[in-house]
Amino acid sequence: MSQDPTNSADVREDRVVTNGFGNPINEPFATQRVGNHGPLLLQDYNLVESLAHFARERIPERNPHAHGSGAFGEFEVTDDITDVCGSKMFEKIGKKTRLLVRFSTVGGEKGSADTVRDPRGFATKFYTEEGNLDWVYNNTPVFFIRDPSKFPHFIHTQKRNPQTNLKDADMFWDFLTTPENQVAIHQIMILFSDRGIPASYRNMNGYSGHTYKWSNKKGEWVYVQVHIKTDQGIKNLTAEEAAKISGENPDFCQQDLFENIEKGNFPSWTVYIQTMTAQQAKQVPFSVFDLTKVWPQKDFPLRRVGKMTLNENPKNFFAQVEEAAFAPSNTVPYQEPSADPVLQARVFSYADAQRYRLGTNYNQIPVNCPYASKSFAPFIRDGSMNVNGNLGSESNYLNNSSKYTFKETERPIQQHQEVWDGPAVPFHWATSPGEIDFKQATDLYQNVLSKQPGQQQHLAHNIGIHAVNARPDIQKRVIDWFTRVDPNLGKDIKAEIAKAASAKANPKL
Ligand code: NDP
Repeated sequence: MSQDPTNSADVREDRVVTNGFGNPINEPFATQRVGNHGPLLLQDYNLVESLAHFARERIPERNPHAHGSGAFGEFEVTDDITDVCGSKMFEKIGKKTRLLVRFSTVGGEKGSADTVRDPRGFATKFYTEEGNLDWVYNNTPVFFIRDPSKFPHFIHTQKRNPQTNLKDADMFWDFLTTPENQVAIHQIMILFSDRGIPASYRNMNGYSGHTYKWSNKKGEWVYVQVHIKTDQGIKNLTAEEAAKISGENPDFCQQDLFENIEKGNFPSWTVYIQTMTAQQAKQVPFSVFDLTKVWPQKDFPLRRVGKMTLNENPKNFFAQVEEAAFAPSNTVPYQEPSADPVLQARVFSYADAQRYRLGTNYNQIPVNCPYASKSFAPFIRDGSMNVNGNLGSESNYLNNSSKYTFKETERPIQQHQEVWDGPAVPFHWATSPGEIDFKQATDLYQNVLSKQPGQQQHLAHNIGIHAVNARPDIQKRVIDWFTRVDPNLGKDIKAEIAKAASAKANPKL
């Protein structure tokens, strides 16, 4: 069992029951009343405290990724990649780094079902000696949008209608089939393929999706995409299996993860990277900063890096999973964000969401503390719920008489590696997607799904049973959209919608 502060609780050894301030309570279930049946007394502080605290037990749930599960584990370097990345966590084969992973769904509320068609979050916090590193990834290699200004709009369409408070197929498909949003096609193809409902968190991959920028110690740099591939094998649920499980056991994946780790059946993933030089990036037919594209594996082969294993359940879900705060802004030397606009926005937005959800000093919550490196930020002081001693008498500004050093001087400055120039302009990728934006979706359909029996049919079926709930004019847009991927897919979806409409009109009770 781990003794580090991310997984321990501070309780009184004699287990004498007290209030929250350590004052013993003799009769926790007795309220102080006037006489036998009179009104209660305000001086009964134990009652006041327990009711007042109960009313404040819930914190704002994440929006999105509210519903999730987590576990601790380790990353072990299996292959030397020091030519690509100078981060200490990769410095030698066999080196291990403690980590926490939180898996999640995206659109559902905190208590929603695990087995829904939705991307899965795959967020990993590495407690490295160079500070905490968060890889805030998904189980799909691409995303719905590539322009961050669309993010709140898009997420609203995945949540509830403001009037009916219902999930709404019109909202869902209306947004996506609007011409300037049709670039979502690649992600939607994956979401509605069999991989759209993983059978468990153990049976899915994680992908950085975004392009990152990694450097070696000489200052040579490349663009990087990370792939975290399950060692348990990919396993998925059909829409019908998932609907049944959602009704019978909405916490199916939480239970699967917890029980397997408890039994010692530790899930693991093999970590790979793809790398691309700045020169190669100029030659590929897509932008490396476009989150709707993958890097073809035959051109940019996967290179193995290490192994991630989850081997320790949290002792307390709230303290170690709900209060865990992941943000791509938490990074270590030699690993930097690229100019991908969605990643740039996430660097701000995730940390901002944690400040709102957990408070300004959320880095002091044990699960978020950089316990393997410690911190020294004398200018980050005070604020609500400051609980770590606030650096005592340290100066609250950096000054000539304080003793401090800068690590930065030991390594190449990555900001100097790429040079950007130009006027400030309102940037749009394109008002409507072109052939290049459909190409990888078509590749998936014609070259990948075609090789796995039944997958093309499942894709059409999964889209049909969802789109049947949208308005007829939106259904037509859906069919036209997928016809651009492949005419056969459009035809099959049309047939599936008709079949689902007929089943809706004649329900089997
Ligand atoms: P490859 O044949 O080299 O790679 C295809 C990849 O597709 C596989 O490695 C597998 O990813 C993934 N895959 C298999 N079945 C499914 C499915 N049902 N849904 C989603 N992904 C699946 O070809 P390319 O690299 O040229 O990619 C072809 C298409 O494959 C892409 O357009 C993209 O849609 C999809 N893909 C590509 C990935 C990439 O990084 N290049 C990653 C994932 C999907 P894995 O090995 O990770 O399980």
